[in-house]
Amino acid sequence: MFEFELSDKQKQLKEALRGLGKSVIRPSSLEWDRNKDIPLEFLRNFYMLSASMRGGNSPMADLTEGSPTGSSAGPSSGNRTAAVAAEELAWADASIMLSVPGAGLGGPPVRSSGTAEQRERFFGIFRDMSDELRWGAYGLTEPGAGSDVASIRTSCRKQGDHYILNGRKCYITNGGRASWVVIFATIDPSLGRAGHRAFVVERGTPGFFVGKIEDKLGLRANETAELVLEDCHVPAENLLGGEERYQTKEGFMTAMKTFDNTRPLVAAMACGIGRAAYEYARDFVRDNYVLGRPIPRYAAIAERLARVNRNLEAARIMVWKAVWMADQGIPNAKESSMSKALAGQAAIRACIDAIEICGAHGTLSEDHALLEKWFRDIKVYDIFEGTGQIQRIVISKRLMNNLRGF
Ligand SMILES: Cc1cc2nc3c(=O)[nH]c(=O)nc-3n(C[C@H](O)[C@H](O)[C@H](O)COP(=O)(O)OP(=O)(O)OC[C@H]3O[C@@H](n4cnc5c(N)ncnc54)[C@H](O)[C@@H]3O)c2cc1C
Repeated sequence: MFEFELSDKQKQLKEALRGLGKSVIRPSSLEWDRNKDIPLEFLRNFYMLSASMRGGNSPMADLTEGSPTGSSAGPSSGNRTAAVAAEELAWADASIMLSVPGAGLGGPPVRSSGTAEQRERFFGIFRDMSDELRWGAYGLTEPGAGSDVASIRTSCRKQGDHYILNGRKCYITNGGRASWVVIFATIDPSLGRAGHRAFVVERGTPGFFVGKIEDKLGLRANETAELVLEDCHVPAENLLGGEERYQTKEGFMTAMKTFDNTRPLVAAMACGIGRAAYEYARDFVRDNYVLGRPIPRYAAIAERLARVNRNLEAARIMVWKAVWMADQGIPNAKESSMSKALAGQAAIRACIDAIEICGAHGTLSEDHALLEKWFRDIKVYDIFEGTGQIQRIVISKRLMNNLRGF
């Protein structure tokens, strides 16, 4: 039975993150955005504080180590907890949400497709980061292969007990600082999805380099990197899931299963940014418009705020349905795309409306710098992890095939 009520632990986490968000993160958010960086010392302190809140576990462990979608391990609540945490952190600052140490987007493919030995080896490095902060990353996108992931060109060929990888990956979140990156490659582009293989490529592997660090419109304080593989020698034991997994088109499924878990979390982050903009506009209206203004004008603005609020609320409910299904082990590809399509649009609209509601003031970057920052940050949420158009295609394909239709 779908449950709207959060558990006591989830409520505590939400409150604690909200408190940290208000008191520690928001006040630094604009400075990080200007400097295009979050100081390591801050990340370390934040990590240690939130880890102690979680009884010594990585604060974001649920983002990457909850139960995989479609697992037979039985119900859990890891994905729901992750969605709650993602919304709260993104409300405070979207860049810190993406920069929190841990496996990040690299976690879901290792979790859903890795062998027990690989899961232990690659997640093990995040259990205790008191000596050094560490990140994982996810490398699928290439120049010319973004939405059309089936057409990746990064090649892999087996040579003895290694694979040799050649290619280029772009826009990889935390790619430059990552201890390992899940890299998708193909044994033969003409095979399409059936030719795909996923490898965990560790920092320091010969032939693995960090290229350009991107300067972006939004999420400026979070690192986005280009990665280069030149005759990169990856040990065969780093092939995710082992050789037998790839007798079918499992390699491609690894990429897609990742999205089933991560799209609702990206949608939850979008809800957090949208809520931040909505609350800002609501407070601005309360402080500046309500008293002494003609009622019709106020009514129009109030109606607009109500529309923003209900669209964000609807998107959150869709997120919670998608993560609930993931936690139950129910395949959720359609719902996960629905949550991202809804939340991306609702949050972009919330940011635009918030600026417009504040009138000319909303465009002044000095007075309303946070509004301007959220407006820049939110655009990415309708692009990465599959654009809005791609989500709508996934949804309609699922409906046409009647796989999980009405
Ligand atoms: C900040 C940021 C972080 C990212 N992090 C990662 C990461 O960690 N790992 C990773 O692998 N990738 C990452 N990406 C890449 C991201 O997933 C891609 O940018 C995204 O999938 C879109 O691909 P593209 O940019 O090549 O656009 P394209 O695929 O070229 O699309 C361009 C436009 O065409 C539209 N379009 C494409 N195909 C269709 C179609 N069939 N029907 C209708 N419209 C279509 C798209 O919706 C879009 O509007 C990141 C991107 C950004 C901006």
